Amino acid sequence: MNFINELDFARQLDQNDPLRAYQDRFHIPQRNGQRLRYFCGNSLGLQPKSVRAAVDHELAVWQNLAVEGWFEQDEVVRNQPWLTIHERSKPALAHIVGALETEVCAMNNLTINMHLLLTSFYRPAGQRTKILTIGGDFPSDMYAFETHLRARGLNPDEVLIEVFPQPGHDTWQPADLLTAIDQYADTLALVLFSGVHYYTGQVFDMAAIARAAHNAGALVGFDLAHGVGNVLLQLHQWQVDFAYWCSYKYLNAGPGGVSGIFVHERHHADSATLPRLAGWWGYDQPQRFAMTKGFMPMPGADGWQVSTPTVLAMATHDAAVQITAEAGMNNLRQKSERLTGYLYYLLNDLVHIITPSDPAQRGCQLSLLLPEQGRQVFDQLTAAGIIGDWREPDCIRLAPAPLYTSFEDVWQLGHTLRDILARRR
Ligand SMILES: *Cc1c(COP(=O)(O)O)cnc(C)c1O
Repeated sequence: MNFINELDFARQLDQNDPLRAYQDRFHIPQRNGQRLRYFCGNSLGLQPKSVRAAVDHELAVWQNLAVEGWFEQDEVVRNQPWLTIHERSKPALAHIVGALETEVCAMNNLTINMHLLLTSFYRPAGQRTKILTIGGDFPSDMYAFETHLRARGLNPDEVLIEVFPQPGHDTWQPADLLTAIDQYADTLALVLFSGVHYYTGQVFDMAAIARAAHNAGALVGFDLAHGVGNVLLQLHQWQVDFAYWCSYKYLNAGPGGVSGIFVHERHHADSATLPRLAGWWGYDQPQRFAMTKGFMPMPGADGWQVSTPTVLAMATHDAAVQITAEAGMNNLRQKSERLTGYLYYLLNDLVHIITPSDPAQRGCQLSLLLPEQGRQVFDQLTAAGIIGDWREPDCIRLAPAPLYTSFEDVWQLGHTLRDILARRR
C-alpha cells in the first residue's frame, strides 16, 4: 500500500478499518483528561472493559456458593465450575496459537512453565546434550536456563549454544539459525528460544526452525511471550513440540496474568512416562479426589497443571482472550501489518530502526536506536502523551497493537517524534 504522511490519510484508514470498533472495548489510559496514545502493549496490554464484570462474577460466586463454586455451575452465567475453569479459554487459545484444544492449557506463569516444560522435554542422552538458543534472549529465560541446568547437575556453559546475529547486524539472518542447527545436529537435544525477539521485535521462521530441529533429531520449543496475539501461529501444523507464553502483553489479561502452554499431540500418548514436576491439579481429574499415591497425569496439556488455579486471574484471562479470538488472528494480523507498516514509513527516514523491514520478519513492534539523547527523546514523547517503552542504553520500543491502536495514533506518534527531533537539531 502507498502511504501518505497526512492526518487525513490516517483518518481515512481508520474509517476503513473493520476492527475499529474494538478500541471501545478497552480502557484507554488518560492523563489530565487527555487520552494517551498507547504503544506499550508489548509490555502490558490495556484493560478490556469486560474484565471487571468477569472478576465481579467470580467474587459473587465465591460470596454465594463459597466452596461449592468448585463443583457447581452458577445460575447466572452458567460458566463451568472452578474445577474445570481451565477449559473456558481452550477454544480461544487453540485459535490464537493454531492448536488442538487438548494441546493448550492456561496455567501458572511463564517462567514457571518454562521450567516445567524443560523438565519434560530437555532429555539429554548420549551425545545429544546441547540446547541451541539465541544469544541475548529475555533475561528471565537466560536465568531459567542457567539455574535449571545447574539444578540438574549440568554446566550451562557446556550445554547452551547461543547463536548471536552476525557482526555488524542488529538481527539474525534467516539462515543463521538453520545453519547453526545443521552444524551442531549430532549433539542437539533441544532447540528453544523466543519465536519473537523481545528487544528487536524480529519474528523467526518457526516452521523452518522446527523442521530443521527435527531433521537434526532434536526437539523444538518456543517462548511466545511476544508472539501470542501478535503474529500468526500454527504450532500444531508446524510440529512444534512445546511452547509457553504470558497473557499480559498482546493478550491483555492484566499484570502478571495467567500463562499458557502448548504440548503437541504427539507427546500425549507417552505422557505418563515423561519426567515432570507435578502437583495434584495435573492429576487425572475424575480420580483426583481419591487422593491416592502414584501420579497419573490428565490427558494432554492439562496434565502439566500443578496447583489450584488462581480463579480471579483466570477470570481476567478468559475475558481478555475471548476478545482476541473474536476479532480473529487473521484480521488482527492484517491490520497489524498495515499499522506497523505505516509507522515504519513515518519513522524510517528519521531514526535507525533495528526491527527487520520485511513485514514477514516482524510483528507489531518497532525498535528504534537513538544512541544520542535517546532518553531525553523518550521523556519528551511521554510528556507529549505518547507511551512507549525504554530499554537501556538507547532503545525505544513502540508497539501499535491492532485491537486498540488507530492509524491516527500512529500518525500522531510520527508527527510528534519528527517535531522533537527537529527541535533538538
Ligand atoms: C515478558 C517475557 C517474560 C516474562 O516472564 P514472566 O515469568 O511472565 O515474568 C519471559 N520471557 C520473555 C521472552 C518475555 O518477553
